[in-house]
Amino acid sequence: MKWVGILFFLACIAIAYRLGARSRPEETPPRKLNIPRDYLIGLNFLLNEETDKAVDIFIKMLEVDSDTVETHLAVGKLFRRRGEVDRAIRIHQNLIARPQLEKVVREQSLYELGQDYLSAGMLDRAERIFLELVNTKSHSARALQTLIDIYQQAKDWNNAITMASQYASLTHQNMQPIIAQYYCELAEAESIKRHHEAALIWLDKALATDKSCARASLLQAKILMDQADYKGALKSLKKIQSQNPDFLSESIDLLASCYEKLGEEEKLVIYLKQLLDEHPRVPVALILAERIRKRKGDKVAATFVADYVRRYPSLRGLSIFVNIYISSAEGRAREDLQILQNLMKKLLATKPEYQCHSCGFSGKSLHWHCPGCKQWSTMMPVHGEEELAARV
Ligand SMILES: [Zn+2]
Repeated sequence: MKWVGILFFLACIAIAYRLGARSRPEETPPRKLNIPRDYLIGLNFLLNEETDKAVDIFIKMLEVDSDTVETHLAVGKLFRRRGEVDRAIRIHQNLIARPQLEKVVREQSLYELGQDYLSAGMLDRAERIFLELVNTKSHSARALQTLIDIYQQAKDWNNAITMASQYASLTHQNMQPIIAQYYCELAEAESIKRHHEAALIWLDKALATDKSCARASLLQAKILMDQADYKGALKSLKKIQSQNPDFLSESIDLLASCYEKLGEEEKLVIYLKQLLDEHPRVPVALILAERIRKRKGDKVAATFVADYVRRYPSLRGLSIFVNIYISSAEGRAREDLQILQNLMKKLLATKPEYQCHSCGFSGKSLHWHCPGCKQWSTMMPVHGEEELAARV
């Protein structure tokens, strides 16, 4: 309380002094600063930690005009930053209530009041204010940005789409990838309720908005698989390679299962080999190794993985190699490999599976909206190829 209060008090004194100085005729010699009685009462309240009464006094005292409005705004912001939102609200409401306020200043005060409501968690009131500000020249873009945040928090994706589209037309910023994520959110909500047709319509919209939206293709494939449309699902899954190869690891199991359901194992092996050449990823190598093991046995599969790990060293790759090799090993070699296998399991258990490339937030599950930096599509699967490459 103290430093804000004292700062506020000093600001009041400074303004009072300035106003006093301005009103004095130039020829009059400087007089001793005459501190108004209300300031002293206000200071007394501050010293007694009765901030509410002090704020009342200062609000009453400070006449809102072009000289003092900045002080009101600055103090309001300070209170909000300190978590004293009620006081910030009173200061900003007091400003808005003045009929003589300039239009731009009124809009600025309204914006600050909206921020106060946001800080207090009063989303409805904040929403009303920012919707009013969307139609102003001075605060339109900032209001839209804040409304996007509000609707994201409330998971009101339809309104988030409207605001993001308006923001894109106003600022010419590319919002398509974010809008596609909102469509995916709508699709997921429908998919959870098993409203598959509705979900597929949202996903079409997501892909029409941003054709590189890997999340949309992934969800589309899952829904089509649920409807036993494995050919359709394969078509969606194969898009991910060009949309964002980082998400191949999310699609590869589904892809293998589609080929299996269609009885096209041969085609799967050909596709995986081609995929591995273009995008060397451990999950792709793992699926291919399993197919090789089924068809040609453990030794051929182990040689294949050993060759892969040599070319693209990683802990995860090495772990797959040991898992395959262990079944064909015997005696002491098998025991040693088991020790190695357990060690690697423990080591891998401590590694994050997903990490945000923007803020570094990491974890074992994929969030399309990063909980750390609140950005979309910044969390990626960790492949670990680089991890050992530097050491080997
Ligand atoms: Zn992040």
